[in-house]
Amino acid sequence: MYNQFRQDFPVLNSNFHDKQLIYLDNAATSQKPSSVLQAVKEYYQKHNANPYRGLYGLSVKATDAYESARKLTAEFIHADNPSEVIFTRNTTEALNLLAYSYGRSVLKSGDEIVLSISEHHSNIIPWQQVAKEKGAVLKYLYLSDDGRIIEEDLEKKITERTKIVSIAHVSNVLGTIHPIEKIIQKAHSVGAVAVVDTAQGIPHYPVDVQKLDVDFLAFSGHKMLAPMGIGVLYGKEKLLNAMPPFLTGGEMIEIVSEQDATFAPLPHKFEAGTPNVGGAVGLAAAIEYINHIGYETIQNIEEELTDYALQELNKLPEITIYGDKVNCRKRCGVISFNVNGVHPHDTASILDGDGIAVRAGHHCAQPLMKYLNVPATCRISFYFYNTKEEINLFIQSLKKVRRLLG
Ligand code: PLP
Repeated sequence: MYNQFRQDFPVLNSNFHDKQLIYLDNAATSQKPSSVLQAVKEYYQKHNANPYRGLYGLSVKATDAYESARKLTAEFIHADNPSEVIFTRNTTEALNLLAYSYGRSVLKSGDEIVLSISEHHSNIIPWQQVAKEKGAVLKYLYLSDDGRIIEEDLEKKITERTKIVSIAHVSNVLGTIHPIEKIIQKAHSVGAVAVVDTAQGIPHYPVDVQKLDVDFLAFSGHKMLAPMGIGVLYGKEKLLNAMPPFLTGGEMIEIVSEQDATFAPLPHKFEAGTPNVGGAVGLAAAIEYINHIGYETIQNIEEELTDYALQELNKLPEITIYGDKVNCRKRCGVISFNVNGVHPHDTASILDGDGIAVRAGHHCAQPLMKYLNVPATCRISFYFYNTKEEINLFIQSLKKVRRLLG
């Protein structure tokens, strides 16, 4: 299976343990195309200065680069206005901003926050912290055997007491695409705000915040071809305007006196300190790359890879797959599995010996591990630059695990 995109990713030519790298840990972070690497390098070579602060030309260039990245990001997610795009370090920081600013200011004792049991810790711990402080309660939507949110739970658990519903678009463990449209509608029907963590969604599927009518959206650049250290919190302008700042300090103020301060308008109110301009430039280049190849191409390649991997894994009797075992309904190319009787760390080490990078552990989703009744799993996750040949080599290596470990 020839993949024309591989040549854009220099790291895919690396060797590990004298074997060609097979990178199957894209849910952890994606690789970066040359155009992104080049854009970041060029920014630092030609335009680097502290934005907003300098009145000189170079600083204006840095400001322009940062604000153009914001504009492109806003267009990419179909936000009404670029000031609804807050740059953060990553999804984790975006969700913390939200919990500490929005959650802390609206939650009262007895209020409920609804999550799914498959959430990443980033979408659990910030809410737990705020809930503890405010006397609010976390409720979880549970999953069926195929990893889908149970419909009755959705109907039953989102109630008049619910103030916030915060759900991952795609599970980072099971690859399930959660029905976010339905969840957002349900949240709104009881007057709650809807938050979508699309860290695992937006690298593979287009997101239109206006069509979804989602109140807040969080994602990380590094999972969608951009450098690490740049992420996004989208929020509806009206909600963001009413929220208090999260981090405070330089650049997020209007007027500061000895005892008090007024705050800058959006988006700067939420961007204290020197921003990651190079990261934002890299995110813009990543968006351009995705726009250029198109989500349809990305999905076509990934669906073929996911179907093939599931088909091949299902042929191995010693493997347990978690969540959707056959690709009968649309799911993302994130597959969790175990070799029965073998610790996932041992499986991952054997695969690593063949140059194959997979993730093993609890995937920052301990409540889900407990729900699935497993301590840990192995996980493979695809991006559009993976190939069937890589899956064949992975399966070959996986077959060795039982032979080596009995
Ligand atoms: N949410 C989901 C669904 C994730 O998969 C991840 C990372 O794996 C995160 C949040 C946290 O992302 P980051 O570490 O970039 O903040």
